[in-house]
Amino acid sequence: MDDRLLHALHVRALHHAELRPEHEPHVLFQTSTIAALLDGAYDGDVTIGEVLEHGDHGLGTLDALDGELVVVDGVAYRASVDGRLERVGPDERTPFAVVIPFAADVRVEVDGPRTLGQLLAEADRHLPGGPALAHAIRVDGRFARVRARSVPRQTPPYRPLAEVVAEQRVFELRDLDATLVGFRFPESAGALNVTGHHLHVADAGRARGGHLFDCVLLEGVLQLDHSSDVHAELPPGVEIAATTAAARAAVAAVERDS
Ligand SMILES: [Zn+2]
Repeated sequence: MDDRLLHALHVRALHHAELRPEHEPHVLFQTSTIAALLDGAYDGDVTIGEVLEHGDHGLGTLDALDGELVVVDGVAYRASVDGRLERVGPDERTPFAVVIPFAADVRVEVDGPRTLGQLLAEADRHLPGGPALAHAIRVDGRFARVRARSVPRQTPPYRPLAEVVAEQRVFELRDLDATLVGFRFPESAGALNVTGHHLHVADAGRARGGHLFDCVLLEGVLQLDHSSDVHAELPPGVEIAATTAAARAAVAAVERDS
């Protein structure tokens, strides 16, 4: 066990053998780091069952980069490369995931239409505890459109994420009820996770979803949950290393719409 501070975030690094179920409000749990995922570490040592022992709201991917992971209301879904959602079994493993026992401390009714940029600006005006903390974000509502992507399953030897993302599949859904699930991490957390906003989407029927690129919200409810504590499970060989400008640019290239 190793404790450190990343500005306002208290980060506890854990090994797999140290994991115990915990559902402490406002404590984030993640496995591995975004830097390791960028480097092509696509096989993890934590199961989805273990991830769900630490939270009911979150996102990530699955072993072999087999789609986008969406955790909503305690259920884990894979958005396969064609954007179809299916439930993920508890024994499947993940190389990168972040979850929290979602306990909103802010709830805002949103009357649209709002672009994603406007919606995220609204979220940033209401961040409980301020922007130096990490926040979980949930939006339930009616959307005019949603633009999302997923990625295809890889085979070893794994290539860096920036190369794999060239094979991503982008799709658009129109006139739907859906849930956005995600996080906002401060710049100080760049060694751990995607800084800024990172959202995945699941439609209301939990049939379609993926990594969110863009949307237009017609009306809905925005909820925010703050966290100052991150428990990070680090697979063998993964460390929390200082982030660099090149690493930040690489994250932006794989997470944002091009
Ligand atoms: Zn994503």
